[in-house]
Amino acid sequence: MASNQETTAIAEKESKDGATQDFGDNPIEVRETDHYQEEYVHGFVDKWDELIDWDARAQSEGQFFIDMLKARGKKTVLDVACGTGFHSVQLLKAGFDVTSVDGSAEMVTKAFENARKRGLVLKTAHADWRWLNRDIHGKFDAIICLGNSFTHLFKESDRRRALAEFYAALKHDGVLILDQRNYDAILDVGFDSKHKYYYCGDQVTAEPEHMDNSLARFRYTFPDGSVYHLNMFPLRRAYMRNLMKEVGFQKVNTYGDFQETFDDHDPDFLVHIADKT
Ligand code: SAM
Repeated sequence: MASNQETTAIAEKESKDGATQDFGDNPIEVRETDHYQEEYVHGFVDKWDELIDWDARAQSEGQFFIDMLKARGKKTVLDVACGTGFHSVQLLKAGFDVTSVDGSAEMVTKAFENARKRGLVLKTAHADWRWLNRDIHGKFDAIICLGNSFTHLFKESDRRRALAEFYAALKHDGVLILDQRNYDAILDVGFDSKHKYYYCGDQVTAEPEHMDNSLARFRYTFPDGSVYHLNMFPLRRAYMRNLMKEVGFQKVNTYGDFQETFDDHDPDFLVHIADKT
């Protein structure tokens, strides 16, 4: 583990390389939807992808998303938060017709490269969820928004707008699969991530540095001592489920760490499966 001095030195070096994040003088005041663009700097994206073991992640998720989609007979999938391409690649390999979108151009490029390395060609597009249907045409059987991505929206109006765009991009019987951290547990009980490696691999430590009702600031520490942060909105489970219903989804089933039954504060991650019919 690097000392604070070493960490600062690494951060300074990366700053010169143009690879650091900028949260200004008071990072916990940064509560803006558009800031996600600046948080996924290439230093973070590259390091993340180098260290996250895709095989291990695939193993811990198992067939969950594939089974959910297959059980509903879905074929065309829009991955709206493709990030570096993990889920898009898994679904492509499983035979789905996948279109991969992200609001960060850096991520879209990385996803395309990652797929190419595995002998696959991804259909990619750069689009922000709030204007999704302006940039993405056609209707899909399913939309996935995974890896705790929706949490980047800070304003309720942005969340409503993004969900309405997802709803409109789905066929009449489409399904939205959206996951999030179990923020209720962190806010009400505290952070105790027994599955902290599910998402991050065993080399990156992800921990909340600041939590209040409208900010979850997470710190990601890498083995070389470098540190990155994400500022996110802590979505409460009931709030999120209700929002999806208000936008028009008829049924919302929530799974805790991929299980149908769970104690409220137990799971680290929640997956909402929202059906239009
Ligand atoms: N799904 C990927 C995974 O699980 O590895 C990536 C998850 S990453 C935590 C969140 C992603 O959401 C980032 O790639 C970010 O650029 C994207 N994102 C955040 N806000 C967005 C928005 N308003 N429109 C489009 N993409 C957005």
